Amino acid sequence: HGKIQYEAYRKNFYVEVPELARMTPEEVNAYRLELEGITVKGKGCPKPIKTWVQCGVSMKILNALKKHSYEKPTPIQAQAIPAIMSGRDLIGIAKTGSGKTIAFLLPMFRHIMDQRPLEESEGPISVIMTPTRELALQITKECKKFSKPLGLRVVCVYGGTGISEQELKPGKNNILTIVPVSSVRYIRGKNCRVMRIVDNVRPDRQTVMFSATFPRAMEALARRILSKPIEVQVGGRSVVCSDVEQHVLVIDEDKKFLKLLEILGHYQEKGSVIIFVDKQEHADGLLKDLMKASYPCMSLHGGIDQYDRDSIINDFKNGACRLMVATSVAARGLDVKQLILVVNYSCPNHYEDYVHRAGRTGRAGNKGYAYTFITEDQVRYAGDIIKALELSGSTVPPELEQLWASFKDQQKAEGKTIKSSSGFSGKGFKFDETEHALAN
Ligand code: ADP
Repeated sequence: HGKIQYEAYRKNFYVEVPELARMTPEEVNAYRLELEGITVKGKGCPKPIKTWVQCGVSMKILNALKKHSYEKPTPIQAQAIPAIMSGRDLIGIAKTGSGKTIAFLLPMFRHIMDQRPLEESEGPISVIMTPTRELALQITKECKKFSKPLGLRVVCVYGGTGISEQELKPGKNNILTIVPVSSVRYIRGKNCRVMRIVDNVRPDRQTVMFSATFPRAMEALARRILSKPIEVQVGGRSVVCSDVEQHVLVIDEDKKFLKLLEILGHYQEKGSVIIFVDKQEHADGLLKDLMKASYPCMSLHGGIDQYDRDSIINDFKNGACRLMVATSVAARGLDVKQLILVVNYSCPNHYEDYVHRAGRTGRAGNKGYAYTFITEDQVRYAGDIIKALELSGSTVPPELEQLWASFKDQQKAEGKTIKSSSGFSGKGFKFDETEHALAN
């Protein structure tokens, strides 16, 4: 590299819009919680964006986003895009399907478009390395949605494809997707293929790494190839959105049905309602009881065949029927805007389930309500529910707090330790003291 006179290039394209500039640190924290509890490490990270326009991409990109119905950034995109756009190296951790690809593609296009066209002996400008062919192909496909309207060329290379030399000729491709490793095992060695490629790129390059998890083996590599990185992690722990008003009632089993009717009486006129139960039999039982009480109602659970499930969901979405009894699994991902109320008739048995159920309401900026019934026998679930209330800034009812405190005391007296029922223990990239000082 010492012998090469590299042309200067621009890394920082990001201009914060006034709407974001006005956000206070408290508002930014609240917004990050809403974005599935996104966490940021490393200094000087820009605030997360809310709309595509705020990240400063071209009209052509905005049109392509619209064409493919990418209405707004996903949480990882909202935080990673402004960080990468501002020229920073980055580690992005978010589960599969969360939209990591676009999070690095959009800033990458901005970079490429800022540079002069390739000359015959040059290129590519960007290299995307992936561990599998499937991922390489998937990323290339996503890339083409944008590269085509931008007039850029992308080529995907992996062993055994028989790509012609013509295809790989310098001057032709702006972007190269490549599979240099077939397993994490190979990224540990000093002379591994990832390093061989990285070492051939100019030292003042911008480098970003994305993954669903961040295993130890990747940490050493990250230290070698990234400079003062920002780390963005999504889904470490999701939280209930602040538009949902949450109530938790400590109640006896035989008082639940009457309480349910009382709550329904209050909310049913206002919108659609989902009542969650834990088992299929309970869904059908409660359905019958509600019908008897003159509430037109449907039930949705895994025992209903797919065709009927689709039509039930359809009737619920279009408002033909506005009351549904469901199990958690059947209602996963259900997005119904006019849904005003969620009742956890059976208490959710872990944190993520609670958050997922409550998250069926309060969508797209609408106000929602979540009621949860918990019996004294179910005290072991109280800890997770308290945590969910606290993390979303809701008040914890004193009865619930008392129930949990007495349970903890009792467990302690019996010499037992209390484990949280949800299994999350995500470890991110750890900054040591010197990196902390540097990361600015
Ligand atoms: P990951 O890399 O995190 O596994 P992908 O980048 O493959 O996830 O995205 C998952 C799916 O979501 C893809 O089908 C992609 O087209 C779609 N997608 C990505 N971003 C958005 C968005 N902002 N809005 C809607 N759909 C999106």
